[in-house]
Amino acid sequence: MKEVLNHVPLFALDYGKDEEDAVLGVLRSKWLTMGEETKSFEVEFARYIGVKHAIAVSNCTAALHLAILAAGVGDGDEVICPSMTFVATVNAITYAGGIPVFADLVSEDNWTISPECIDSLISSRTRAIMVMHYGGFSCDMDSINKLARRKGVKVIEDAAHAIGSTCHNRKLGSMGDISCFSFFSNKNLSTGEGGMVCTNDDGTAEKIRLFRSHGMTSMTLDRYKGHAFGYDIVEKGFNYRIDEIHSALGRVQLRKLDRNNLRRLKAAQSYRRLLSEVGEIRIPFERYEHRPNFHIFPILLNRGVNRDKFMRFLREKGIETSIHYKPVHTCSYYVKRFNVPMLPVTEEIGRREMSLPMYPDIKVEAIEQVVSAIKSYLEN
Ligand SMILES: *Cc1c(COP(=O)(O)O)cnc(C)c1O
Repeated sequence: MKEVLNHVPLFALDYGKDEEDAVLGVLRSKWLTMGEETKSFEVEFARYIGVKHAIAVSNCTAALHLAILAAGVGDGDEVICPSMTFVATVNAITYAGGIPVFADLVSEDNWTISPECIDSLISSRTRAIMVMHYGGFSCDMDSINKLARRKGVKVIEDAAHAIGSTCHNRKLGSMGDISCFSFFSNKNLSTGEGGMVCTNDDGTAEKIRLFRSHGMTSMTLDRYKGHAFGYDIVEKGFNYRIDEIHSALGRVQLRKLDRNNLRRLKAAQSYRRLLSEVGEIRIPFERYEHRPNFHIFPILLNRGVNRDKFMRFLREKGIETSIHYKPVHTCSYYVKRFNVPMLPVTEEIGRREMSLPMYPDIKVEAIEQVVSAIKSYLEN
């Protein structure tokens, strides 16, 4: 029998007519940035997450920078963070002159930041704790919030992976002091580029709005509508604005999000069922009790498996895989600039992690193809 080779991408967008219409609507309106689409996107997003304020920005890296500034992080202040994350989480700390203090993960099953490690690293110089909900799985927010309150430091959630995930019936991104979301192409809600900052605190929201647009006291739309004529600059702000096309795409994608996250859940269940007989790999978060959004599908390879060779083999079979992530504290810039610690759990996962294709529209046949390729490699 001839072998049928189908291409299985790591990720595929769910874009269609609604997105096309949304973009055309903006083009025809002839209002391109920070207008009614952005306002509505912010209102709808805040309602979805269950927070008082949502402030749309150009990307999540900008969102993280604004969150760090709003948390009061400045030169020499320490921020405790994970190393098993996309580098933007940590870069944002350094933009404000902050010093990243890397904490290890809970275990080889739970790849989120360890509250015990955080506790041991808090000092008089700690200004904030930055957490990241890896793969859409919640960090232990109860313990981390309790700890933070006791020590008087802020909690920032990098929720770039976690849009739509819930924990005790609350959305991730609604439990820290400030949270940040990404709408980069490969995220569960995609607009190409885009991000959001959320908070329940009025003062924090006001600061973030100011920093988003030059520290300027009135917005273009207000002046256009005659609500304001003059302006002042009250902070050293940035241009981290989003435009109307991205906001309009975001509104359409937000309406599809829950349905698409459910489709991801079904795919994850198929993977788990089919992979349960494969002894050489382990699926993390086995004992997880909340509802993740399955942003990615990470696996942990046994120590003997050569990851590079394995990934190359799968690519030859038409299957795209990826690594999430090379630990940030092992990247040369961070090794050169900072006192990086040894993080045994992070480093072990960093050597053995691999992510399989995951997107709402992935078919059971594609998942079967991935798993049978995995088996055929590991059995030889
Ligand atoms: C994607 C991502 C970011 C960066 O988001 P951008 O919108 O591309 O700036 C930050 N943190 C994590 C964990 C991410 O996955």
